[in-house]
Amino acid sequence: MESFPVTRIAESRKGQIDYNNLRFGVYFTDHIFVMDYSEGRWHSPRIEPNGPMAISPANMTFHYGQAVFEGQKAFRRPDGSIVLFRPDAHVARLNRSCRALCIPDVPEDTVLQGIRQVVELEREFVPSTRGHSLYIRPFVIAMDNLLGVQSSQSFRLIVLLSPVANYYPEGLKPVRLHVAQHHSRAARGGLGMAKTPANYAASLLPAKRAKEKGYTQVLWLDATEHKYVEEVGTMNIFFKINDELYTPPLDGDTILSGITRMSVIELCRSWGVPVHEQRVSIQRLFESFQAGELQEVFGTGTAAVVSPVGEIHYNNDSMSLNGESIGPMAQRLYDAITGIQYGDEADPFGWIHPVC
Ligand SMILES: *Cc1c(COP(=O)(O)O)cnc(C)c1O
Repeated sequence: MESFPVTRIAESRKGQIDYNNLRFGVYFTDHIFVMDYSEGRWHSPRIEPNGPMAISPANMTFHYGQAVFEGQKAFRRPDGSIVLFRPDAHVARLNRSCRALCIPDVPEDTVLQGIRQVVELEREFVPSTRGHSLYIRPFVIAMDNLLGVQSSQSFRLIVLLSPVANYYPEGLKPVRLHVAQHHSRAARGGLGMAKTPANYAASLLPAKRAKEKGYTQVLWLDATEHKYVEEVGTMNIFFKINDELYTPPLDGDTILSGITRMSVIELCRSWGVPVHEQRVSIQRLFESFQAGELQEVFGTGTAAVVSPVGEIHYNNDSMSLNGESIGPMAQRLYDAITGIQYGDEADPFGWIHPVC
């Protein structure tokens, strides 16, 4: 297989990492995978030391946010081997995000090979504690230095690696949600389906307000009518009503197509659990709750896998779910997905890609 040139770091930072207190996205490995786009093509795939970069103050990314990113993980299994979870689906989504931001498609095979090579080079950084992993953050930024508002003509792709702990150190602790009644995450015809910093920027103030009121995260409604539930924080959302699952459909271009969402749907269908990709209004949710039919609510995403919801607050009403502990479906899905990742379950779907 093709191997990209490597420039090694002078002094490893491995000794500076406190593996007993990893948290999320605090520590980084020694090297990054890098590739550039100019004169109409992606070129120069390489591995470089991870360190400060010289970037012009006129770099367009700072001013107009032409950037996209991904988030995926590598896992160390009990036998010491290292695997990736659905890397092909992640790079395909990176290109869908690129198209929404006028960024030229990245060559998927080159990026996948670059990820494998840099993860293998950094294998000693992959934690061995169950639940811990190597978070992989590919991203693309504009590289033209120009204040005119237009698409950049040059770009850089970087793959940054970060050893991370369980997202929730105290286990699968249910989150408390505050429904955003004024703010929205993404509008029809906007960038909601792309993994792009702009959507995260839009979420910061509402998230801060929710935290000030004592809630963990924001439950987002659609931006047109403020009626239908779309996402939770930066996760997709599922409802279990009368033993069947519901999740908002992706047809409206406001919802991010989660790889975990897709995995949950595929797993449930293989178990014979019906999953409906259907809009659910916040009103229907409260009605189902009052009728005793709403059994579980949970978010899904790479960082936490499954995040149970213990409480939802809307207007002056609030509902408390499943005694504010994790429900059986969320637990079953968490166990199944992490079981496939760490290799104590078979992988009938072909989600696992070995690295070394
Ligand atoms: C990344 C992301 C998700 C979850 O996607 P996964 O592929 O499951 O990690 C959900 N919603 C938003 C807004 C996201 O950015």
